[in-house]
Amino acid sequence: MHQDIEKVLIDEGIIQKRLDVLAGKVADDFEGKPMVVVALLKGAVLFTADLLRRVALPMQIEFLNVASYHGCTESSGVVSFLDETLPDVEGKVVLLLDDILDTGRTLEAVMKKLEQQGACEVKTCVLLAKDIEREVFKEADYTGFMIGDEFVVGYGLDYQGLYRNLPYVGVLKDSAL
Ligand code: 5GP
Ligand code: MG
Repeated sequence: MHQDIEKVLIDEGIIQKRLDVLAGKVADDFEGKPMVVVALLKGAVLFTADLLRRVALPMQIEFLNVASYHGCTESSGVVSFLDETLPDVEGKVVLLLDDILDTGRTLEAVMKKLEQQGACEVKTCVLLAKDIEREVFKEADYTGFMIGDEFVVGYGLDYQGLYRNLPYVGVLKDSAL
């Protein structure tokens, strides 16, 4: 285990097993529909790669660079779109992937944007969802794991740009924050 990690919340094997299940559901639901996957950078990168290699359907894969966290451990609530151009989703069925559902503001904003861009359907899929009361975006269509209201890193999730490459999801030691 990494020296800065206090405890592992979800280990690698459990994540990978859960991805088999999520991928199966996605494959069933999207079969026969030309799909575009829109994954949010950078947190969803590991999740996206591991999930999509299990989905044997034709798909276009796009990444969107959005910022909502600005380097601290609490969501700012402001979502900025950092790309000059957005993926072409006009008339398409979209699977929107993110690492974690916290306040819901990110998915809410991106969903709205994709609908404005003419997507005909947007389904959302997150690796993690915090078990909290949300004002916006109560639930994703596909959720890997529900977790408590604590700050986690690993498997794509960072703290100040670090820890994304850990193969598990864990909690940092106070000394690392
Ligand atoms: P929301 O807009 O739902 O509040 O937050 C979503 C974004 O905040 C996620 O894409 C992620 O970047 C960041 N975030 C929320 N909770 C956590 C967390 O526990 N750990 C890390 N590393 N990022 C988080
Ligand atoms: Mg993120």
